[in-house]
Amino acid sequence: MLPTSFALPQGLKAAILQPMKTIPNNWLLVELHLHTNASGDSLIEPQQVIDHCRQVGIDRVAITDHNSIAGALTAKALAPEMVIIGEEIETTQGELLGYYLREGVPAGLAPMEAIKRLRAQGAVISVSHPFDHTRGPRWTYDQLTAIAPHVDALEIFNARCFSNKPNRQAAEFARQQGLPGTAGSDAHSFNEIGRAALHVPSFNHPESFLAALQQAQPQTRLSPAWVHLSSQWAKLVRAFQKK
Ligand SMILES: [Zn+2]
Repeated sequence: MLPTSFALPQGLKAAILQPMKTIPNNWLLVELHLHTNASGDSLIEPQQVIDHCRQVGIDRVAITDHNSIAGALTAKALAPEMVIIGEEIETTQGELLGYYLREGVPAGLAPMEAIKRLRAQGAVISVSHPFDHTRGPRWTYDQLTAIAPHVDALEIFNARCFSNKPNRQAAEFARQQGLPGTAGSDAHSFNEIGRAALHVPSFNHPESFLAALQQAQPQTRLSPAWVHLSSQWAKLVRAFQKK
C-alpha cells in the first residue's frame, strides 16, 4: 500500500519551506492548480475537492483541468464562494493557466491565440510550471520571454516538480519580468491538495485576485515523486472504465 504521508528530512524541509511572515487573520489560503476527474489523469470528483479543501483549510480553490472547465463548473455550482473556474490549456508550446473563465479554451492553439481568447473573457493568465522540462509540452526560454508581456503571472511553485530548481528558476524569471507568482499543488490525488498554496488578501473577482497575488505569501512544499503514479493509475482506471 502506498504511504499516505511523507516526512522530509529536517534539513531539506527547512530548505524548501519559505520563512513565513505573519499572515493577517483575514487573509485567505488559496490553491491555484488542481485536477478533477474532468482531466483524464485524475479520479477526484468535484465534491471531493470541496470536502478536502474544507478539511485542510483551503479557502479558495482554482480547478484547472486539462483543456476543460467541466469539473470546475460542477464544483462552482456546489460551492460558489470557494471555487474559481480555471483551466490548464495545452498550447502548441507549453501550458497556460487561466482563472475566472466563462468558457473553455481548446487545446492546440498557438500561445498568443489562447491568450487572446482568455483576455476576451476577462480571465487572469498564468503560465504552468514554466521551467519544468520533465513535463510533456514545455516552454523554451525564448518562448517564455515572448509571452511574458502578455500574461498576468507565472507559476512560481508547482508541488509536482521533481526538485525545487524549476520553481526557483520560475520565481527568478517572474521577478525579472515584474510579474506576480501563482502556486499550486497540481494535485491529481487527495494527498496532494494544498501542498502548495498562497496566503493572500481577500478577493472576489479577477481584478482583486490579481491585486491579491501581488502581496501573496507562499506556503509550499514539494510532493513526493510517487504522486506521479497516481496520474498513471487514474489513466489506467479510466481506460478500463471505457472498455
Ligand atoms: Zn496541472
